Amino acid sequence: MSAQAITVVPTAVPEQLVDRFGRTVRDLRISVTDRCNLRCTYCMPAQGLAWLPGPQLLTVAEIARLARLAVERLGMERIRLTGGEPLLRRDLEQIVAALSTLRTRIGTKPDIGLTTNGLGLDKRAAALRAAGLDRVNISIDALDPQNYAALTRRDRLQDVLRGVAGAQAAGLDPIKVNAVAVPEGLSERAPRLAAECLRRGWQLRFIEHMPLGPRGTWRAGDVVGADKVLTVLRRAGFELAPVGRPDRRPAALWDVAAGRGPDGADYPAGRIGVIASVTAPFCADCDRTRLTADGRLLTCLFSATDTDLRSPMRAGAADEEIMRIWAEATWSKPRAHGADDLQAPSDFTAPARTMSAIGG
Ligand code: SAM
Ligand code: SF4
Repeated sequence: MSAQAITVVPTAVPEQLVDRFGRTVRDLRISVTDRCNLRCTYCMPAQGLAWLPGPQLLTVAEIARLARLAVERLGMERIRLTGGEPLLRRDLEQIVAALSTLRTRIGTKPDIGLTTNGLGLDKRAAALRAAGLDRVNISIDALDPQNYAALTRRDRLQDVLRGVAGAQAAGLDPIKVNAVAVPEGLSERAPRLAAECLRRGWQLRFIEHMPLGPRGTWRAGDVVGADKVLTVLRRAGFELAPVGRPDRRPAALWDVAAGRGPDGADYPAGRIGVIASVTAPFCADCDRTRLTADGRLLTCLFSATDTDLRSPMRAGAADEEIMRIWAEATWSKPRAHGADDLQAPSDFTAPARTMSAIGG
């Protein structure tokens, strides 16, 4: 891929979405709600965030229509449902069922994933799986109930662990666990999470803290980079060998040798990942596009501007018109997000919405 921008804007409806830098979109992230039942410190303010009024949310039919254009007309292959907390949508099973009727260019069902905090997943995992859900990422920042409650501002760790058990029982595989690498208690949290995830067969991913939470709460100097996470694990006795980034996916993977955890119990060999979205961004390989719960298109997680697809759709726009708007917005996708320049972070404009309203 060349970093040199092409300047001629395509006018016809394309068969796939490409940008000026030659990147092709294959991955659709759909936020189905901006609401949440946790208040993670790095994502949402403790209080005072207004929810989108219900009529502004995309309906199941609207989500299904945009996803159909993405998969069947524009060549996307993977869909991930996120939020806010997607399990707060009572019709999530209907959304998954509608998405699983779609067929990619090669005639297969798109890969359908869910990113969730896990609350209530035990009661819904089997139905979601039956509807066509393939995989799940569950966010767990700590395995100590007090640490968990401090980071999420809610005392719900046991409910989350019940949710993970439900996902496993329903056969959702793999189970990935997301943990944000905020500095608070990291030297205790990270080794404990790593050991327990290896024991339970969950694929742990540490994610660098991005400037997408409540305004004024992120400081470049506080970012715990991937190197620091690995140092913390090595200090706790983990033997790590680099695997790289298979398929150029965001997570850099590390083989972990079998060992003994901080609790004195053994863990088997396995793998963990670190997503260096801030210190080593993967913008050059980015193949994602995002829809917010109110139908706005974001070509980048960090976009300060968005493109409204819901209004034209509700005004009766034909499929071709919606795809043309989507293609034009994609063409203008920036080369990189700019949050990685930790020396000059003032050049970076954080989006107005918090992560919960963007869809992580
Ligand atoms: N509520 C669901 C959950 O927590 O998994 C889905 C939405 S949440 C916004 C998606 C992911 O974004 C979670 O794994 C969360 O930890 C991560 N996240 C939220 N704010 C973040 C931030 N400022 N930096 C890095 N990751 C963040
Ligand atoms: Fe809610 Fe997920 Fe944000 Fe936590 S990270 S506040 S669970 S949307």
